[in-house]
Amino acid sequence: MNFKHTILALSAVALIASCSSKKKSNEEKDKKEMTSTNAFADVDAMKYANTITLDELRDQLYFYASDEMEGRYTGSPGQKKAAEYLQSLYEKMGVAGGNLDGTYFQTVPGSYFNKPDLTSENVLGFIKGTEKPEEVLVISAHLDHIGTKNGVVFNGADDDGSGTIALIEIAEAFKKAAEDGYGPKRSILFLHVTGEEIGLYGSKYYSENPVYAMENTIANLNIDMIGRIDKKRSKNRLHLLNR
Ligand SMILES: [Zn+2]
Repeated sequence: MNFKHTILALSAVALIASCSSKKKSNEEKDKKEMTSTNAFADVDAMKYANTITLDELRDQLYFYASDEMEGRYTGSPGQKKAAEYLQSLYEKMGVAGGNLDGTYFQTVPGSYFNKPDLTSENVLGFIKGTEKPEEVLVISAHLDHIGTKNGVVFNGADDDGSGTIALIEIAEAFKKAAEDGYGPKRSILFLHVTGEEIGLYGSKYYSENPVYAMENTIANLNIDMIGRIDKKRSKNRLHLLNR
């Protein structure tokens, strides 16, 4: 399944690129310095990438994009249920909340997205870095979708249930690696932003109210719609955009 392969590849690359290693002997350290591209050769990245399974992706995505979530319209009960679900997954994995007090929700006031009677929330998971914990890599996906229309639920499995659950599974792989002593070199913030479909409000709100200083935020990898291949293009490609 392409979704799984995409995540596997992404995770493997990320693990290889970012993982720290257990405390090494001096000899190993010297070797590491000499061969920087092979710095984490002793880490079996695939062991952690393989924690990303088709069954987990499917089970979580099917629930996340089920009718129960009512299309996850920003500020709606369905969207809040989806946010609660994400929090519960992070709690189950033992991944901390991304707020400084360890909680998971960043409340976005309704006035911010032109619905003063409502509130919405970004959901934040966090794994602390081992060598440069003050530097933060943000991996993001939008948690909302377009809700219901004329009684029909727009489930948003691809847009962006696929990216959302990808974040969960990537977080799980990093968490398991960290538990074995291979924590990421820099901190990773798993940022699920709300209000994307109605005007990119969640990501805008976070960037104006960052939990971790923007000058220490080294990059943002955003994942949207990776559940299927674009038929207009013949090859399975990954778009990497630089602003
Ligand atoms: Zn999207």
